[in-house]
Amino acid sequence: MSDLGARQLAALSELACLVADGTATRRSQLAQVTGLSRAAVAQRVDLLVARGLLVETETVATERGRPPLTLRLAADALICAVDLGATHVRAALTTLDGAPLAETIREIDINDGPQRTLTGVHELTGELLAEAGRAPRHLCAFSIGVPGPVEAETGTVIRPPIMQGWDGYRIPDFFADRYDATVLVDNDVNMMAFGEYSHRRHLRHLLYIKVGTGIGCGIISNGVLHRGASGAAGDIGHIPLHGHEDVLCHCGNTGCVEAVASGAAIARALREAGLPAAGGRDVVRMVYEGNPVARRQVRLAGQQIGEVLASLVSFHNPDAIVLGGVIAQLHEDLLADIRGVIYRRALPLATRTLAIETSALGERAGVEGAARMAARHLLSTEGIERLLMQPVR
Ligand SMILES: [Zn+2]
Repeated sequence: MSDLGARQLAALSELACLVADGTATRRSQLAQVTGLSRAAVAQRVDLLVARGLLVETETVATERGRPPLTLRLAADALICAVDLGATHVRAALTTLDGAPLAETIREIDINDGPQRTLTGVHELTGELLAEAGRAPRHLCAFSIGVPGPVEAETGTVIRPPIMQGWDGYRIPDFFADRYDATVLVDNDVNMMAFGEYSHRRHLRHLLYIKVGTGIGCGIISNGVLHRGASGAAGDIGHIPLHGHEDVLCHCGNTGCVEAVASGAAIARALREAGLPAAGGRDVVRMVYEGNPVARRQVRLAGQQIGEVLASLVSFHNPDAIVLGGVIAQLHEDLLADIRGVIYRRALPLATRTLAIETSALGERAGVEGAARMAARHLLSTEGIERLLMQPVR
């Protein structure tokens, strides 16, 4: 049993989260943000420092007076953040406040199935720990984004359209025998959305749109990831576009935005025009080379994606739409058309302060979000109790 009551744990959790996400890293700032007295903050911070969860250090000396003391999370407890794609895995070892200690990327084929793919992740984790000079006991959490639908409570992959052999696989079971760590699993686009949100915490409502081989969306509503009743929220790729009923989608319906305007769809249109485009990366290359047919197709895709986003803006009223994925690299061509359609189609009240921008984190959005998601979980009221009871040393 913990010697700390539920209310005290909630208060400790709040302070630790503020330090972890960089909102407040000094005692005075914590008092300001929480409205607690300096004495109340001091009592709680002292406890977190004494239990080894927070560390207080002097920052660079100022000209006059004592340098201010800065708080950060202790670097003993680590997170392994993993972004599994169809053809790559990126893994990062981070502290609870998101500082990366080691990071690596490797090519894989997700269709090799869970056993082989996760054995690869296990080996990568060993390499990252060795590089950072840490032991497996320092790992408090694995946080993994996968390119398919996930039941987040159990970490089970559910009927993924790509990911052969993964249907019904419970990812945390693989790690249970090997590590004493919490395992969080979510859809990769959800992780990316959370990563982008973590870099824009002043924006409470955010839609992250990934335009890659497919098209997906992660939804942050009032600072919380919205997964929906069964984890399918944000699966926007199969929203139909008018006037494209002749285009067959892999889902069996026709006219889906993913079948018309994704990286794969643009590449297909270019092949039909006689250009050698295998996928989204070739589309990007051709636009950079100044190919007018490729630019034209990307601009058309921008308008088509904009049609769908205009409806989402009316429905969700976000502060920001953030575009990611390989095609979002073409922001000059893509953003102008997406913006044009949204401002024309959505209501003025919904677009008055709407920001439409490209990803700040690029290819790191997935691991960044996975790390932040894990930190939030570990520092929650329930999580912090465990961390304080069993300090990592
Ligand atoms: Zn479809």
